[in-house]
Amino acid sequence: MTLPKFEYLAPTTLAEACALLAKHQEKARVLAGGTDLVPQMKKRAATPQYVIGLKNVSGLDYIEFDKTKGLRIGALATLNAVLDSPVVKSNYPVLAEAIGRMATVQVRNLGTVGGNLCNASPAADSGTPLLVLDARMKVTGPKGERTIPLEAFFKCPGQCTMEPGEILTEIQVPPPPPKSGAVFLKLARTKDGICQEARIALGSVAPTPMRAHKAEEMLKGKKLDSALIEKAALAASQEARPISDIRSSAEYRVEMVKVLTRNGLTQAMERAKAG
Ligand SMILES: Cc1cc2nc3c(=O)[nH]c(=O)nc-3n(C[C@H](O)[C@H](O)[C@H](O)COP(=O)(O)OP(=O)(O)OC[C@H]3O[C@@H](n4cnc5c(N)ncnc54)[C@H](O)[C@@H]3O)c2cc1C
Repeated sequence: MTLPKFEYLAPTTLAEACALLAKHQEKARVLAGGTDLVPQMKKRAATPQYVIGLKNVSGLDYIEFDKTKGLRIGALATLNAVLDSPVVKSNYPVLAEAIGRMATVQVRNLGTVGGNLCNASPAADSGTPLLVLDARMKVTGPKGERTIPLEAFFKCPGQCTMEPGEILTEIQVPPPPPKSGAVFLKLARTKDGICQEARIALGSVAPTPMRAHKAEEMLKGKKLDSALIEKAALAASQEARPISDIRSSAEYRVEMVKVLTRNGLTQAMERAKAG
């Protein structure tokens, strides 16, 4: 499959990239690693006249951690850079765990976490851990800078809530709460076995990556035991809104939400107990 015709623009600063995007508006698309956009262009699912490559914009590939402020991931940090980052591994293992299960080494060397989120696929693998970790997205555009909670960032499949002309510059993750444990899909915080706070994020079972708020509420303030975990897992499966497609039926996905939520909560509880 060949690429459709387009003009490649290579700004060297963020301001230049924003100006180009503002100028060409919906005729243009930003390109980070290209591992989502290029296949979409080959399939003609995206046919931008202008592709604005961010590769030459320096200073956007940082991964920085501060104990009080948390983690900052520049929009051009590759998936493998985040996966291999010692500060991510030790402070946010759930993020490394999720990215480690993504794609292949080659794709992860090119693809970025920013691109994964901006692509807004319901199955974006970095979406669920970052939802659980309460991440925020820093964007810059014609009206200046703003941050958007990740939960409000996904609009519908393939679309996020950035305004036209806005570019994602940074993903911000608050410091991990003490005595917290998370697995790929879920996180629970406990004190003396009492769950103080729980976050459950689900991918591939709704139009966007989603939080299972009703199931989370069931766990808060209660002692976690297998009966309560079972009830929360059922609630999470009832909150999911999957479709049937070539990969599996909606009924199967609902059942799997129950199974994975149950397993995930059990593992998260064990990790939280271990500190
Ligand atoms: C073989 C293969 C396997 C894959 N497996 C997985 C998988 O297991 N799990 C998974 O989640 N994904 C998977 N992907 C999808 C893809 O690799 C990831 O989503 C990747 O993180 C996309 O990042 P990118 O930098 O390549 O994005 P790009 O392709 O560069 O961009 C994706 C979208 O985001 C926009 N965008 C990118 N950066 C910005 C920015 N800074 N500001 C505004 N908009 C921006 C682009 O305009 C485009 O619409 C796979 C892809 C391939 C080809």
